[in-house]
Amino acid sequence: MSVIPLNYVVRVLRYLRPHWRLAASAVVLTVLASLAALLTPWPLKIVVDNVLQQHPVSPGLKGLLGSTAGSRVGLLVFAVVASLFIALVMNGLHVLNNYVNTKIDQHITLDFRSQLFLHAQRLSLAFHDRRRSGLLIYMINNQGDAPSGLLMTIPMLGESALTLIGMFWISFRMDANLALVSLAVVPFLYYSVGYYATHIQDRLRYVRNLEAESLAVIHESLSMMRVVVAFGREEHEFRRFRDQTATAVGERVRVTVRQTVFTLAVNMITAIGSALVLGLGAYHVLQNRLTVGDMLVVIAYIAAVYKPLETISYTIGSLQDRFISLRSTFHLLDRESDIKDSPHARAMRHAHGNVAFENVAFSYSGRSDTLKDITFEAEPGQAIGIVGPTGAGKSTLVSLLPRFYDPNAGRILLDGTDTHEFTLQSLRQQISIVLQEPLLFSGSIAENIRYGRLDATMGEIMEAARAANAHDFIMRLPKKYETQLGERGAAISGGERQRISVARAFLKDAPILILDEPTSSVDSKTEAVILDALDRLMVGRTTFMIAHRLSTLHHADLILVLNGGRLVEQGTQEDLLRREGLYRQLYNAQIGALRKPQAKTPPAPVLV
Ligand code: ATP
Repeated sequence: MSVIPLNYVVRVLRYLRPHWRLAASAVVLTVLASLAALLTPWPLKIVVDNVLQQHPVSPGLKGLLGSTAGSRVGLLVFAVVASLFIALVMNGLHVLNNYVNTKIDQHITLDFRSQLFLHAQRLSLAFHDRRRSGLLIYMINNQGDAPSGLLMTIPMLGESALTLIGMFWISFRMDANLALVSLAVVPFLYYSVGYYATHIQDRLRYVRNLEAESLAVIHESLSMMRVVVAFGREEHEFRRFRDQTATAVGERVRVTVRQTVFTLAVNMITAIGSALVLGLGAYHVLQNRLTVGDMLVVIAYIAAVYKPLETISYTIGSLQDRFISLRSTFHLLDRESDIKDSPHARAMRHAHGNVAFENVAFSYSGRSDTLKDITFEAEPGQAIGIVGPTGAGKSTLVSLLPRFYDPNAGRILLDGTDTHEFTLQSLRQQISIVLQEPLLFSGSIAENIRYGRLDATMGEIMEAARAANAHDFIMRLPKKYETQLGERGAAISGGERQRISVARAFLKDAPILILDEPTSSVDSKTEAVILDALDRLMVGRTTFMIAHRLSTLHHADLILVLNGGRLVEQGTQEDLLRREGLYRQLYNAQIGALRKPQAKTPPAPVLV
């Protein structure tokens, strides 16, 4: 990366487009502030040359002041009032500039953070499987201000450059030698900025990664709080955080020392320049080539020339941090989602619910043959049971339908059309999912149910809750539907959470339903209540039910038996029991387990 990567600057400038009016005001204010800065040393010259040393007043000043120019007191009053006026104008411009710049800064940061957040949400689950959320949070929150940070330095650099040119030009006209001597420092400054910028980048990138890692540790520990507490690992987590952060702090301090040394180098170079100018200026006064007032103005200018030079140097130095942030955030934005709408995708209105898999194969990255050659068809409204040993690929199979992942081979058809031909949004609109672990948001119970359909009325929410057998328990809570849930729905039991997620699915009212072992972690009484609600939910929908307990599949129209990623059997329960295959084995194993505590009489294999 170069000292100032122009491609980043150009890309960042695009974020200014929606705020061009504010940006134009910032440019005007910057030019005015530079002009005002040029006026600053002139009252001092008038006092020294015309008031104290009584040199003749310049024609310009005479034209401005008229008869007052003849009186020393009049000139003195003018110089004092002028210096106050210049200070007032400069400070006024400063306040305005601050207001405009803060507004641009905050709006661009908001735009950029929103863009990062939206993009991160759109990236595929395959991407998120590999990424730690803490790192993404760091990027959105801590690095999201990089574009505005870069843009905010542009007026500062512009003002410095303008002031620099203006002051150099005036100094040059007053004493060309002195002005040229003052420029002797520029190559040294240029070299030190270049050296610093190229040597600091790797370190800054390293520090940023360490800081992001610290946030990832906090995020992971807090989201795993129950496990941390259950294993009594608070101290261990604290140490992990502390060690990680201490490393980051150590590196940050080392980088800051380097930054400070760089500041020292810049200051020393300009101090040498100032000393040279002072010496030569005084020498010119001794030779009567310059008045004392002129010398003071030139020295004031040259001191002021160095100020923007220093500012430019520091700014270019501190910009490196921004460039590191821009590099990683742009990298995220440039990453295309593996799962996206095809160019001719169309919106699907309401599916009938015919689902067909044709020779579908899929592997997670780095794995092979998670699913192989899967072919089956589900008619609208049918209940499809999916069974198989753990790791057989059951959850993976159902996650291909809403295109959480895309198959590597074969096709998935919805109502006879490849799912790729529908927009993702409309495809997912057709599918409700009730997961093994009910995931809820913090917020009220009503808000959580409304997540199924954002425009649902309170009446519809209650109706969905009744259908999900959740209404009664909700009404028993002190705040009923307004009960606030903690993060991930903490504050109510697992079975209650699951009923709320079923209510959410009711409200979505999608023609296809995926049930990924929704009752596996509840007791049998709660299971019966949830199953009762699910029976109601399944009516008129094509339902895919993953089940370990074969008893929950009693009215499945088709059962798919998976093993090692292959569809080894499919048929009705009767068909499958007649064959002496895997289903029969699983079935016998469960019946055997049920029989064990009782004794002799063999139970009829009725699946309830
Ligand atoms: P279970 O009954 O235990 O829930 P399952 O039949 O639903 O198992 P899947 O979750 O579909 O099985 O997993 C199938 C295979 O894919 C397993 O070997 C698993 O290790 C692997 N797998 C699952 N998710 C991922 C992932 N995100 N990345 C890589 N491999 C995965």
